Amino acid sequence: MMAQYNPYDNVLKVVKEAADILGYTDSDIEAIKYPERELKVAIPVRMDDGTTHVFEGYRIQHSTSRGPAKGGIRFHPAVNLDEVKALAAWMTFKCAVVNIPYGGGKGGVVCDPNQLSENEIRAITRRFTAAIAPLIGPEQDIPAPDVGTNAAVMGWMMDTYSMLKGHCVHGVVTGKPIELGGALGRNEATGRGVMFTTKNILKKLGLEMNGTTVAIQGMGNVGSITAKLVNKEGMKVVAVSDVSGGIYNPDGLDIPAILEYLSKDRKNLLSGYDEPGMTRISNEELLELDVKVLIPAALENQINGSNADRIKADIIVEAANGPVASEADDVLNAKGIVVVPDILANAGGVVVSYFEWVQNIQSVSWTEETVNEKLKNIMDPAFEAVWSIADQQHTTLRTGAYLIAVKRVVDAKKARAIWP
Ligand code: GLU
Repeated sequence: MMAQYNPYDNVLKVVKEAADILGYTDSDIEAIKYPERELKVAIPVRMDDGTTHVFEGYRIQHSTSRGPAKGGIRFHPAVNLDEVKALAAWMTFKCAVVNIPYGGGKGGVVCDPNQLSENEIRAITRRFTAAIAPLIGPEQDIPAPDVGTNAAVMGWMMDTYSMLKGHCVHGVVTGKPIELGGALGRNEATGRGVMFTTKNILKKLGLEMNGTTVAIQGMGNVGSITAKLVNKEGMKVVAVSDVSGGIYNPDGLDIPAILEYLSKDRKNLLSGYDEPGMTRISNEELLELDVKVLIPAALENQINGSNADRIKADIIVEAANGPVASEADDVLNAKGIVVVPDILANAGGVVVSYFEWVQNIQSVSWTEETVNEKLKNIMDPAFEAVWSIADQQHTTLRTGAYLIAVKRVVDAKKARAIWP
């Protein structure tokens, strides 16, 4: 029987592997094995039908060694403690690999936004924000959007926190609506970073963007913007999927038409979309397509011990957090499949969150061109650094990314020393 998947064990495994190569002792990495703070909250909400429902929520700060905790808030039925712990730790290493001055945190509420009205989502957001208010703040811990949340939710979080403080606090969350101090380019940032990363890996392997086939799992913020941008760069997007299943056309899908359909109504799903030449496939089938590049942009553990040997893509760019489980990493590596790890590939979101926070604290605003250019100036050298260390050390790109990230986190911890 397959061992139960625990994403936090996946994080610890790769951290240990990197620490061994770096020559760190168990003592050196002991502290980063434990999240600094874990808060579980109960969120009572008056539902539209007049009943009271109590939702479960979390905010976890994995590390504040390199700066305030930073990371998104997930609204999803599968949210649980181990998932939030793993997501928080991935944020620590993500911020470290791109060298922005943050630690890592994450939060989540066990709920299904697709089954909730806007009023109910707002009520959950406000009560959750009040419950985690003692932990968050522009200098302590800065939430942002993640799966199931968006700019509107960030606006309500910012408002709730500001009301509790008695004054306007822009810098408490990022990914806000533009009119509340949100950064231009933040909404597209994760997908843009995935596009830059895809371009970088193809270039390293001597391949062109133009005409290269790609399959994308997930049509949320990250998947849809990635599809839009790689399509613009000339890649042939042959398959996309969402919770309702996938669609496939070996000659390339009409990405602008798909995105227009999905954005018309938040209830629109791919199962209701049709275009000439496409066939319907399942999410599992999408992952196993014979494409050059596979971009999982949904949830963790999509490629695991049970399907890794059936993956046919040459390159996997992890747009989601943790889509490839560590048991699958070894199988993919043995097959010669190159995996560009999440903490590098999807870091564009938090990089532009950092830009948003910097603008908020200084009360300035940058143009979208400036944001996009600064993002590229961080993503490209970070990719280059990961590629070269992996090359020098003969490791996978994931281990390479952790060699850089773990070193930065441990060095910061060592420089601060253990208090008291
Ligand atoms: N939720 C995003 C991530 O997983 C963004 C986090 C942020 O901007 O703080 O990287």
